[in-house]
Amino acid sequence: MPNPTVEQIAAAGIVGAGGAGFPTHVKLAAKADAVLINAAECEPLLHKDKEVLREMVDGVIAGTAAAVELVGAKEAHFGIKEKYQNVIDLVRKKLPKNMSVAPLRDAYPAGDEFILVYDVLGRVVPPGGIPLAVGAVVMNVETALNVAQASQQPVTEKYLSIAGAVAEPVTLRVPLGATLAECVAAAGGPSVPDPHYIVGGVMMGYLEEDHNALVDKTTGGVIVLPGDHIVVRRRKQDWQQITRIGRSACDQCSFCTELCPRWLLGHPIEPHRAMRSLEFNQIGEANVIGTAFCCECNLCSLYSCPEDLDPKNVCTQNKRRLAAEKRRYENPPFNPRRPELHMENRKAPMGRLMQKLGLKQFRNVGPLQPEPLATATVGIKLKQHIGAPCEPAVGVGETVACGQVVGRRPMANGVAALGAPVHASIDGRVTSITDGVVWIERTT
Ligand code: SF4
Ligand code: SF4
Repeated sequence: MPNPTVEQIAAAGIVGAGGAGFPTHVKLAAKADAVLINAAECEPLLHKDKEVLREMVDGVIAGTAAAVELVGAKEAHFGIKEKYQNVIDLVRKKLPKNMSVAPLRDAYPAGDEFILVYDVLGRVVPPGGIPLAVGAVVMNVETALNVAQASQQPVTEKYLSIAGAVAEPVTLRVPLGATLAECVAAAGGPSVPDPHYIVGGVMMGYLEEDHNALVDKTTGGVIVLPGDHIVVRRRKQDWQQITRIGRSACDQCSFCTELCPRWLLGHPIEPHRAMRSLEFNQIGEANVIGTAFCCECNLCSLYSCPEDLDPKNVCTQNKRRLAAEKRRYENPPFNPRRPELHMENRKAPMGRLMQKLGLKQFRNVGPLQPEPLATATVGIKLKQHIGAPCEPAVGVGETVACGQVVGRRPMANGVAALGAPVHASIDGRVTSITDGVVWIERTT
């Protein structure tokens, strides 16, 4: 199969499948000297990237080769945790000469793009920058697979890990627009009476109250947890609780900063200083301006802080205030030597993180179920990406085929807006277009 063009990748509606949703055709229109495949999968209990590699390694390598060619890179590296030696062996056997595996330590957050770039290439992305600033393009495993298929088929499916308190943890092939509840049912259903869904991972994901929420191109997985689980209770804390407890209990020990992956990279973010903003309920310049560089990994709140406080939410709250006030941190101080000094012995080991989060009770597996999930109805969201929502390309009552465009990028002055088209994920009939969702009922 010939490598796809950037135009074919755009037409296939490919966006970052790791959760970011950035249109891949834009990323691959740039020039870089290295492509990194992010197979670190450091969110506890998620396994879909490893499963995709196990079952479809040729496709992932083909997509990587296409990306290498498009960006003009010399090399590609697959970042895979060293503990998955069987996956590493499988991938290594198939790699061409200009590609290699970079084994990663079993730590969190190994899959943070900036950490991956440092661990694999030894380059430090500057604060406010992107990997391209140091000549790297980072792609998720599933995104690479989608790129390989771009000239033949658009994105109509998502691979999802369903884990935690379910009967059978599994990796599913899901038509876009299925509900989370259908996915959990396919994993044998919840094994607890009051299931709560954490979507995207216990560290960086969110608590989804609506179990009929729709799977889109950025959904990474569902971790089911009981309502009294520590992760659920932390997600349910409101801002008032966070500030009241934080104000009274933070002793400025600075562990949150000492283990913050972005601080370790030399960026000027210091969550312990951001905590001081709670005392004054205002943005003190020196204390919080660096919160703009928080990657929201949640390590400080769910691992580092001995008082179980929430510096991550304090940082993100301040980050949003800074953005709303259109305040930028010009020429931030940057210490690119700091990683050499501190990074090696300050990574959070996964075993300890899982222990702290009460996740060791769950089966840490997720074999791929190769048959796609059967669903009678799908709801295709018109916005599943960074950029402008799509405009409907079909009408109610129309018959559509799987892979047909049902939402197209809007045009402005003859140019398509940033975004990605969306496609029908089953053969069927459009029953309604409501609140930004095209509903399709299966006919075959
Ligand atoms: S680790 Fe916790 S107690 Fe220590 S400075 Fe950070 S928020 Fe405060
Ligand atoms: S969430 Fe916490 S640990 Fe992670 S980057 Fe932000 S401040 Fe640092």
